[in-house]
Amino acid sequence: MGEFDLIARYFTRPARADGAVALGVGDDCALLAPRPGMQLAISSDMLVEGRHFFADVDPLTLGHKALAVNLSDLAASGARPLAFTLALALPRVHEPWLQRFSEGLLRLADAHCCELIGGDTTQGPLNICITVFGEVPAGQALLRSGARAGDDIWVSGTLGDARLALEALQGRIGLPAGTLARARTRLETPTPRVALGQALRGIATSALDLSDGLLGDLGHILRASGVGAEIDADETSKLIAARALFTGATARLDMELLRQCTLAGGDDYELAFTAPPALREAVAGAAATAGTPVARIGRISAEPGLRLADAQGRPLAGRYASFDHFGG
Ligand code: ADP
Ligand code: MG
Repeated sequence: MGEFDLIARYFTRPARADGAVALGVGDDCALLAPRPGMQLAISSDMLVEGRHFFADVDPLTLGHKALAVNLSDLAASGARPLAFTLALALPRVHEPWLQRFSEGLLRLADAHCCELIGGDTTQGPLNICITVFGEVPAGQALLRSGARAGDDIWVSGTLGDARLALEALQGRIGLPAGTLARARTRLETPTPRVALGQALRGIATSALDLSDGLLGDLGHILRASGVGAEIDADETSKLIAARALFTGATARLDMELLRQCTLAGGDDYELAFTAPPALREAVAGAAATAGTPVARIGRISAEPGLRLADAQGRPLAGRYASFDHFGG
């Protein structure tokens, strides 16, 4: 099968008449028609075999995840998804693989009315690069730079399950089959918090999505905003969906693992954001509107740096370094 047949069969769909896409796949450029008063929000993420996913991963979940991590960036900006492009390097044309990959990809795209409008296809080591386009009312995008001393720090959903699954899949820990299956779902099919991001416009003072681990990612907000933070590590540890595992005699032992996974795990694709305490009800309202739970895990302070404490307020050592792509 040639390049053009492949594109026609797996990555071309009838354009919807209603949206912002004036021209989709098939010409030299796609055309987007943003509505008046809107800004375009644009982000790219690349997934490389061996680095971001295992070679034998189910292409259905790979297609999902490739788009999900990009939609997560739109969510963090408070933008509504419009469209995306797909640049794909494939070692060979394997139709069952392409069938499942495009199914996982386009199913999530449809769920968010985000249209595939173009891309590039070439032969090479498996590599998936997606660029998403969204819209946000001018001046209302959520940025990393708006956190102020006294703001609450919030996170959405659950934290740490993806890392827990990774630890188990790489043989460093053992997990009961049911727990692994659940954690693995979080690793392989993360849920971008698109509705929550939009609901937080005008409420959150800053936001970002968690890809490399809570503490490291939060550092981006602190630096951009010129502030510091106090984080309740015990409150944060409760946000792992797999916590039911960690009870009884092994609880103390496993506390360390829980902290590692929730504070520095990575691959969560949840939102972390700040908002003034006076807007706690508004945050709860946004969470309810979006159908996404949120939890308060700390507070922004004027003093720079990030301080971790347990539930009794005792300081914890800052040894939960975030996963760094070049530091290993
Ligand atoms: P060009 O040679 O101008 O770069 P291509 O021949 O690479 O164009 O692509 C032809 C058309 O197919 C273009 O509209 C391009 O955006 C689209 N396309 C190519 N690869 C993909 C893909 N993986 N997914 C969606 N559209 C694609
Ligand atoms: Mg091309």
